[in-house]
Amino acid sequence: PAPGLADPALLRTASYVDGTWVDHGEAGHVVVGNPATGERIADIPALSRAQAAEAVAAAHRALPGWRSTAAAERAGVLRQWYDLVQAATDDLARLITLEEGKPLAEARGEVAYAASFLEWFAEEAKRIRGDVFPGPQSSRRIVVIREPVGVCAAITPWNFPAAMITRKAAPALAAGCTMVVKPAAQTPLTALALAELAERAGVPAGVFNVVVGDAREIGAELTGNPLVRKLTFTGSTGVGRLLLAQSAETVKKTSMELGGNAPVLVFDDADLDTAVSGVLTAKYRNSGESCIGANRVYVQAGIYDRFADEVTRRVRELVVGDGFEADVQIGPLIDPPAVAKVEEHIADAAAHGAEVLCGGARHPRGGLFYQPTVLTGVTRQMAVTREETFGPVLPLIRFTDEAEAVAAANDTEFGLAAYLFTRDAERTWRVSAALEAGMVGINTGLISTEIAPFGGIKQSGLGREGSVHGIDEYLEMKYLAWEGA
Ligand code: ADP
Repeated sequence: PAPGLADPALLRTASYVDGTWVDHGEAGHVVVGNPATGERIADIPALSRAQAAEAVAAAHRALPGWRSTAAAERAGVLRQWYDLVQAATDDLARLITLEEGKPLAEARGEVAYAASFLEWFAEEAKRIRGDVFPGPQSSRRIVVIREPVGVCAAITPWNFPAAMITRKAAPALAAGCTMVVKPAAQTPLTALALAELAERAGVPAGVFNVVVGDAREIGAELTGNPLVRKLTFTGSTGVGRLLLAQSAETVKKTSMELGGNAPVLVFDDADLDTAVSGVLTAKYRNSGESCIGANRVYVQAGIYDRFADEVTRRVRELVVGDGFEADVQIGPLIDPPAVAKVEEHIADAAAHGAEVLCGGARHPRGGLFYQPTVLTGVTRQMAVTREETFGPVLPLIRFTDEAEAVAAANDTEFGLAAYLFTRDAERTWRVSAALEAGMVGINTGLISTEIAPFGGIKQSGLGREGSVHGIDEYLEMKYLAWEGA
């Protein structure tokens, strides 16, 4: 089925290695499907582990040339890539909706977010700088320069098929690194379209490669190959742990953006509309399939009933459907296991005494559609508060005391995002400081921007992406002890 692209050449169905499209895979095929309809969209030749090694070798060959370009030249290429991505917004959004399922308007938003990293790091490329310190003797200078890490590997998830790639590739290329990306098997088409646009933007052969194939086989090569000096991963904590262990063998630098279990704290003094809107954004974006999605909402007793009524009223109005249909706000979940997990969490909550305020079942459309759900009477014994649900389920938990709520919020091995809604400035500061999270949304459910450092603490990850700090993940310091200077 033709996705109706204005530029049909953006529909690429082969891996991109060393500036060429690899249309023979040694490991069968990756089948890409549309989660809204179940239709088969494309068959992509799956690369073998040996073919992934060839991609690493190509990135290694391209490294000396790319790292020695002037920063302004790399900036120019990234800026050109940004312009092309912006110009292709509609087509890229269609590919995202097609293979990931999110509503088209959200997909357009993702393309803008993805593009923002290309623009931002085009600018940051020119600002890589070092230090000079007075030495311990007058004859000595301490000079610190910053150099690209080398060949980088990126393993990316399906929930943001464009942005999770540019958030890694843009700082890597800006720093002078080369990269091999393994996109999620569910969403390779967006990644391959980005490669097509990279080529048009003038990214040299071997500098940016996309390899499609079996995650374990290719993951084993990317983590085991000594030519890869850095692994950057976004995905589940379980796979992150495994990749960290595999990378230990060759002592790679790593960045890990792992799972979350974001708490929301709504205090009595919150503005009701702001809190409800913020929670809806933080929960239902991408059908709840977001690592910073609100996973458990603690609401203070004095505002609980009004909050529950209003949030339930608004959730009932959410329009579920195929992301290509007008006005749809909630698309399908990604695959049958995702639906099964939502069902298990709701069944477990109900078995332990939670009450369904709305939703609570598959959507009458069938397939991978699930009704947006609100649960009340939720307790910390339930799986829905302990694990990331990754679906359109909003569990409400009543609390009375601030310290009790903060303790419950922190009672998790995760530490990615947290949100709080209050109009009290002292409380804002106190609670923000007490929350164990890498990011805190205050009176907002929307925190992602290229300007801010994205990342988690505890078992939610290592390192930060975006912001003035994001490029550091792709640079190493070299200290020159300069005698006689
Ligand atoms: P999600 O729950 O978002 O699918 P995963 O952690 O399973 O999260 O997937 C994120 C990325 O990690 C995907 O590109 C997936 O193919 C990849 N992946 C999953 N398992 C492995 C593995 N054993 N080795 C390497 N990559 C893996």
